[in-house]
Amino acid sequence: MKLHNKIAVITGAGKGIGRATAKKFLKEGAKVVLISRSGDDLNRFLDENSSHKSNILTIEGDISKSETLNKITSSTFSTFGGIDILVNNAGFSVFNNLVDSRTEDFDAMFNTNIRALYLITKGFLPHMIKVKSGTIINIASVAGKQGFATGTIYCATKHAVMGLSRALMLEVRKYNIRVVAVCPGSVDTDFFRPESNTVLSSHPFTVLKPEDVAETILYAASLPENATVSEIEVRPTNPRK
Ligand code: NAP
Repeated sequence: MKLHNKIAVITGAGKGIGRATAKKFLKEGAKVVLISRSGDDLNRFLDENSSHKSNILTIEGDISKSETLNKITSSTFSTFGGIDILVNNAGFSVFNNLVDSRTEDFDAMFNTNIRALYLITKGFLPHMIKVKSGTIINIASVAGKQGFATGTIYCATKHAVMGLSRALMLEVRKYNIRVVAVCPGSVDTDFFRPESNTVLSSHPFTVLKPEDVAETILYAASLPENATVSEIEVRPTNPRK
C-alpha cells in the first residue's frame, strides 16, 4: 500500500475531487480527516466505507469560519496524533463579469479558496517542521495560470494559490516538506452548479473525472520522500474541439 498509516487531512471531501481522493487514500492504507460543509455527504461516505471506519474522522464545518479551522487541527491531533499529508482542496466559484459581480461573492471566494488554505496550512506547519516531514498539496487550477472571461475573481483566487504554493515550497523544503500545486482543467463535478452561474460546457466524456485528479494527487503524495513535483497540470487527453 502506498500510504500505509499516513495521516491525511482533505478539505472539501464531501463531493467531487476531495471525495475521490479520500477514497483512493483509504484504499492505500491512509487514515483520513475529511472536512465538508454537508454532514449528509460525510455520513454517506462513512456508510460507503464502513470497513475503514476506524481510519476516518469527519468534520462538518465551513473552513471560512475560525471555529472550523481550530477544530480541524485539534481533532486531527487528538484522534490520529499527527499529520503527514494536507490536501487543500475545498474551493468554489461564482462566475460573472467583474462589472456585474457581487463583493460578497469576492469575499466568500477569497475566504474559502485562499484565506482558509493559508490558515489551515499555518495550523499544521509547526508540526511538520518539528518532525521534518510532510506533504502539502494545494488544488489550484489551470485558472491559476491563465485568465478567462467571467473568471476574474476565481482566477485571482487560484493565481493566489499558485503564488503561495511556489513561495512556500522554497520556504519549507529545508525541512523535507513538499509543497505541490495541482492544476486541473475542467472536471465533471458539482463545481458546475446553478449557484456557480455556469454549466459544464463540454460533454462529460471529454473532461476529467474526479478520480483522474485523485490519481494525480495520490501520485504526488506517494513519490519517494526525497523527490517532489512542485506543479502538475492535469488535462483531458482528448478534449472536444
Ligand atoms: P465540488 O464537487 O463542488 O466539491 C467541493 C467540495 O468542497 C464539496 O465537498 C464542498 O462541500 C466543499 N466546500 C466548498 N466550500 C467549502 C467550505 N467553505 N468549507 C468546507 N467545505 C467546502 O468541486 P470540485 O470540482 O471537486 O472542486 C474541488 C477543488 O478543485 C476546488 O478548489 C476547485 O476550485 C478545484 N478545481 C475544480 C475544477 C473543476 O472543473 N471541477 C477544475 C480545476 C480546479 P459542500 O458542498 O458541502 O459545501
